[in-house]
Amino acid sequence: MLFDNHNRPITYLRLAVTDRCNLRCFYCMPETGIKYLPKQQLLTYEEMERLVAVLARMGVSKLRLTGGEPFVRAGLMGFLERLSVIPGLDELHMTTNGVLTAPHVADMARLGVKSVNLSLDSLDRARFHQITRRDELPAVLNTLDELLAHNIRVKINAVVMDGQNIGDLYALAELARNQPIDVRFIEEMPFNGEGSHYPILTWTHQRILGELRSFYPDLQPRPSAPHATATTWQAPDHVGTMGIIAAYTRTFCGSCNRIRLTAQGSLKTCLYDNGVLDVRALLRSGATDADLTAAFLKAFAHRPATGFEAEALRPEVTESMSTIGG
Ligand code: SAM
Repeated sequence: MLFDNHNRPITYLRLAVTDRCNLRCFYCMPETGIKYLPKQQLLTYEEMERLVAVLARMGVSKLRLTGGEPFVRAGLMGFLERLSVIPGLDELHMTTNGVLTAPHVADMARLGVKSVNLSLDSLDRARFHQITRRDELPAVLNTLDELLAHNIRVKINAVVMDGQNIGDLYALAELARNQPIDVRFIEEMPFNGEGSHYPILTWTHQRILGELRSFYPDLQPRPSAPHATATTWQAPDHVGTMGIIAAYTRTFCGSCNRIRLTAQGSLKTCLYDNGVLDVRALLRSGATDADLTAAFLKAFAHRPATGFEAEALRPEVTESMSTIGG
């Protein structure tokens, strides 16, 4: 097992395969003027595959592909196929906005994708359009149907945004009534690509829970998986569950088992850090697998205890979540 300097196991890698996205969610990216990385600055699939294999040998057993939007990168399914046979990698997961995903769901099921986080902030077509700046709700709902039809576990991720989608929370929560879906409500974070943020978060995890209780007075807590970021809740007559992710309040750092690689090959040992290792530079300067392992171990031995500590060690957050992957 791989441990960090705070004795937390590191078992989970989130890999952003691209910084590009086909939506423009206002809380994540500006509408225009986005500077995407030139292709040669992105890790190639071969480089990513090698890094995943090295990390799997070190003890990482769970991988999530994210982005940007992973399905906008050509060749994604071929990459997934190669990842699916890496020894030691027990779990493959994906995060997607669902716009381009539906045609690939059968292959995802065949390759053993264990769960998909589907980002969906509103079930109202006009509001979805307003939030994402694209009119793509029907495509996303088609992906949801495909995932359920192929028995891939689905978690819906909805960012809770003051003055934007509060009126949509009930309809989203109701998705769990008759379907085995985990609907997770996420505190908004400062990664909007513009470096501006509410001075005080208005929709904290406590307030979100209060809102869910107003819909379902008999809401019951449910056990969460080890290392989960969400607290889990269930209404008595629901098949699925609801979750609340205190992503801004950061209540779960003590059990954090995750590391991130951005599309340009920057290692993040905390969502809130500024990148702690330039893995792309190491790869492209001819590092051996032993060199990579040693560099990873050094980074894991200096992991901040909390997201607040990581944030305090860096300049102001100005990047978009699309460069990190969520
Ligand atoms: N394109 C994919 C998708 O939409 O799921 C993967 C990348 S996206 C950046 C991953 C997740 O980050 C999405 O669920 C999105 O809603 C969330 N996200 C982006 N910006 C955020 C912010 N400022 N606060 C909270 N969550 C955010």
